[in-house]
Amino acid sequence: MSDGADELRAELHDLAAQTLALVEWLGASGAEGLPTAARRAPQARRGEEQAGRPTAVSARPALGTTEAAPPARSAAAATAATPRAPVDRADALARLVSLEHEVRSCVRCPLSQHRTQTVFARGNPNARLVFVGEGPGAEEDAQGLPFVGAAGQLLDRMITAMGFGLDEVYICNVVKCRPPSNRKPEPQEMHACLPYLHEQLALTNPEVIVALGATAMVGLLDWVDAGASAPGISRLRGTWKLYQGRIPVMPTFHPAYLLRSPDKKREVWSDLQAVMRRMGREPPRPKQGG
Ligand code: SF4
Repeated sequence: MSDGADELRAELHDLAAQTLALVEWLGASGAEGLPTAARRAPQARRGEEQAGRPTAVSARPALGTTEAAPPARSAAAATAATPRAPVDRADALARLVSLEHEVRSCVRCPLSQHRTQTVFARGNPNARLVFVGEGPGAEEDAQGLPFVGAAGQLLDRMITAMGFGLDEVYICNVVKCRPPSNRKPEPQEMHACLPYLHEQLALTNPEVIVALGATAMVGLLDWVDAGASAPGISRLRGTWKLYQGRIPVMPTFHPAYLLRSPDKKREVWSDLQAVMRRMGREPPRPKQGG
């Protein structure tokens, strides 16, 4: 058999697997229909289609500083992202590569003692949409990539159901090393590692961020020290927030939680549909009379 036929067979196999994943997620989340092709909203259009890709790289805050919206910020304010200035994407991508190298040798916090390897990101650093989770688990620690275990497979199905390819999004975590026994990262560990996430987000400069779970939400919104006084993910999911006063953030449940509580998939799908609308994608329409 020729190489071309093998490649075609592999592509068809991948397509069938993706379609199956999409159908499984749509069925499990209560959604019906298929997402329509990408339709970019004028305000959501990427900068690279214009003169230059807007970003905050050139004016990004010092590492570790945040200006996140406080919990009491109004919904209207939380959806009014500020325009971004053009930037040299080549510089940003080169810095992302060097940042990943820095992270590999990081010993800023005790999590460095337990890792097999650091877990920086996967996906497209030019993505319009970024997903942020908590931290690596056992599978991620072994492979050096985020969201590659069972929760990651579910996340991939969610992304596919939204009409995005896995090469159209960027996925990373609040902490880059696996906490022992998959416990939550401690506040001091989050503080040590968050500067890396802030710089990743300044460099990727997405239009929308999805915060997967409470740890991602409090890390992105600078609520690490709020402790129990921070609003819970159950209360805040589905409501738009702002990351550093400029990038809309949609908090939703972590895919690992969905594996334990599949009845929550419908709420997550509602949150992801809000993200799709914000990015100019039409969510699947419910069947009439269904
Ligand atoms: S978790 Fe982050 S801060 Fe801690 S050692 Fe790993 S890379 Fe460094």
